[in-house]
Amino acid sequence: MSEKMLHWLDKQAELMPDGIAIEEPGLMSLTFKELQTASRTFARRLAGKGIGVENKVAILSDNCPEYIVAVHAISYLGAIAVLLNTRLSEAEITWQLADAKVDFVLMDEVNKGKTESHKWRSQFSNCHFGEIGPEDNAVMLKREIDLKEGFTLMYTSGTTGHPKAVLHTFGNHWWSAIGSMLNLGLTHQDKWLSVLPMFHIGGLSIYLKSVIYGMPVHMLRKFEEKAVLHAILEGGVTIMSAVTVMLRRILEELDEKSCPSSFRCMLLGGGPVPKPLLEKAKEQSIPVFQSYGMTETSSQIVTLSPADALEKLGSSGKPLFPAQLQINEPDQNGEGEIVVKGPMVVSGYYGNVEASHKAITENGWLKTGDIGRLDEGGFLFVLDRRKDLIISGGENIYPAELESVLSTHPKLREVGVVGLPDSKWGQVPAAFFVCRNESLDEQELVQFCYEKLARFKRPKYFFEVKELPRNASGKLLRSKLVEIAHEMSRKKR
Ligand code: ATP
Ligand code: MG
Repeated sequence: MSEKMLHWLDKQAELMPDGIAIEEPGLMSLTFKELQTASRTFARRLAGKGIGVENKVAILSDNCPEYIVAVHAISYLGAIAVLLNTRLSEAEITWQLADAKVDFVLMDEVNKGKTESHKWRSQFSNCHFGEIGPEDNAVMLKREIDLKEGFTLMYTSGTTGHPKAVLHTFGNHWWSAIGSMLNLGLTHQDKWLSVLPMFHIGGLSIYLKSVIYGMPVHMLRKFEEKAVLHAILEGGVTIMSAVTVMLRRILEELDEKSCPSSFRCMLLGGGPVPKPLLEKAKEQSIPVFQSYGMTETSSQIVTLSPADALEKLGSSGKPLFPAQLQINEPDQNGEGEIVVKGPMVVSGYYGNVEASHKAITENGWLKTGDIGRLDEGGFLFVLDRRKDLIISGGENIYPAELESVLSTHPKLREVGVVGLPDSKWGQVPAAFFVCRNESLDEQELVQFCYEKLARFKRPKYFFEVKELPRNASGKLLRSKLVEIAHEMSRKKR
């Protein structure tokens, strides 16, 4: 069986030449035909710089249409697009460029400055999107996509340690898009709002779905709750991908208003979601679909279907159509490591055989490092990362559960929980909290925990902070919290 298909952008440009591919409110819009032309032109320009099959072209840019044009252009050359996180430090970027063996770097205006003092400036050629130079008209652009071939390389968020390089094939992206559609369905009215960073899988995958589905993307460069609500209320957006912090800010902005019925899905993923937030979303008719996935699974691999969204609040749902999921070595409560398999799951980490062997079994099962359980109906409940599990006096405590309970306190805006070493219990939970408006007496929190949490789960330490440390995808960096705890207790002494 051939695993080749006509290049997906050429196919969509043939099927829906005038269909909108990307729109940026008040600024621009591109039809599939225009996106195809721009991408092919850009590909010829890259070829003019000597880029060809299997070269690695890094992109260091904030969200913009040129980003997507560049990604498609790279695919026309059979090269690999390396998507770099713009919020990394220079040292981290330098490391990733070397690790990914990048040949060429594309930048936008904002991030261009970051390269000036870079050591890699002399080692790699680089240029700004707009300065790429003349086209090579002799280059043969790829007519077909081979599902087995590599297409994008991006690093995991680095929440638990050093980021790992994930190389997605065209097939991984294809099956991710198909699996999502088989669950969410697709209508001619659908328009997906994109606001997540394009250098993360949740952001990029929207634009690949767009080309595969023939669906417009409503692009916002940055998250701003007013603009998001405007897009939902006035811009005809029907689906959006979001992370927890975004949902919280949207709910605050929405106030007592509710969403129009045309907005049919907020795909929420990337991290744990406190239950009270899900309940509030339900009250205000925001159709939240919780999902679970990671860079290695090319975006969501488990999603709650619309039919079960209300009944299974707090669950991430069932594995998408071609995916499988199991709980490895479950304990007496059925809790254990989540392992997944399917055509959207990558086969290893780029250039890191050791990490690949550690994470992926011979039969293609990916050990996610997350703990979960399945209920009697086969619905997944993600509990937490294995690395963050707190074991106190032999009892398992999941920081995400404590965060969820504590965040119901009306005076608290957000909460982060970690385990700290303790001579008696091994580890004890410590809670970091951000207040809403009025500050909070620690005794009040102690009392609150007394009422809401079993004794062994109650945090032994409370630290008030101005904000919680998060990475570029808005994820809580619990390892930073441990550092802050040490710092704060040193100061107290
Ligand atoms: P690194 O692998 O470098 O430590 P990371 O795991 O945060 O970083 P990503 O691939 O961006 O990198 O994130 C995937 C992780 O996000 C999952 O493994 C899981 O821990 C967490 N996650 C995703 N969805 C959910 C969810 N619905 N509930 C709880 N956690 C989730
Ligand atoms: Mg991970």
